Amino acid sequence: MSKASKSAILLIYTGGTIGMKESGHGLVPFDFSEILVEVPELRKFTFKIDSCAFDPLIDSSDVEPGMWKELATLIRDRYEQYDGFVVLHGTDTMAYSASALSFMLENLDKPVIFTGSQLPVGSLRTDGKENLVSAIEVASARDSRGRAMVPEVAIYFNSQLIRGNRATKVNSTAFDAFRSPNCPPLAEAGISIRYNKAVIRYPAAGAGPLCIHTELDTRVAILKIHPGITEQVARNVLLGNGIRAVIIETYGSGNAISKPWFTDIIRESAASGRILLNVTQCLAGDVNMNLYATGKALKDAGVVSGSDITTEGGLAKLFYLMGEYADNEKVKRLLEKNIRGEISK
Ligand code: ASP
Repeated sequence: MSKASKSAILLIYTGGTIGMKESGHGLVPFDFSEILVEVPELRKFTFKIDSCAFDPLIDSSDVEPGMWKELATLIRDRYEQYDGFVVLHGTDTMAYSASALSFMLENLDKPVIFTGSQLPVGSLRTDGKENLVSAIEVASARDSRGRAMVPEVAIYFNSQLIRGNRATKVNSTAFDAFRSPNCPPLAEAGISIRYNKAVIRYPAAGAGPLCIHTELDTRVAILKIHPGITEQVARNVLLGNGIRAVIIETYGSGNAISKPWFTDIIRESAASGRILLNVTQCLAGDVNMNLYATGKALKDAGVVSGSDITTEGGLAKLFYLMGEYADNEKVKRLLEKNIRGEISK
């Protein structure tokens, strides 16, 4: 792509508040072919913006891995036609979808920018217009050599661009709905958009063409440790039928109950071959199982450290790795590696 050539962007509407309007009996999705009526500002872009909509449009609470496969396949099929992709998505599960796509799209060298809004794009005080317009700007931005400025799966929301697999929704009502607690923003928008090139990941020299991974193994459970958790509950999850991996959401730097009954279940689960991933319940910081005896017991039992991954990122990484590899030991080794910028080490 030469520096002079104009960008072409594909807008993909999957559902969510951003594309809804008041119908008199609640919010309903509007016909996306009317996007220019709802957001006439889009006409001011001097490059081509095509759009397509999923059928059915969904509240993102209903998102399923099948939709991620559809999205990855659509991006792969249209990859040569466009310089960047903007995915309009409900905010509730946006961090899950962006995490999943980050693993499913390998050797990405074009932006895939998720955005949405807290208020419908047609409402007067909407945050949707700024989010949409800036997401398009980010998706079309190139550096002085004509390369995509952000060749990553990212979320643009409320003036910040954050890596998709580092994001988490932290507020259900404020415009400032997302955080990337363990990774600085990839860009920040003020009167201009300032890109943080030291954080953005660029494809390695000699990286092959885009390759998509659509085989996901979803046999994962999430166990949040809390005071009062019963042996029965822990046993049902950690030794449950049909569960290949468990994300254990632990306290602080990766600590759980030190009582023998709990450690015994952990050991039994690990010995059965299940993959156990330790992710902290804290919003920021990481897991260090060497710090406290309660964490050390987990490590000795065979629990893998999630480092500073989010639960959303850990879930997506497990789905992807387990879909790729039948060997659980291999999955465990790869969980400790930084594959798509999802952990800091
Ligand atoms: N429930 C909506 C969704 O996630 C909320 C939103 O769009 O922000 O689809």
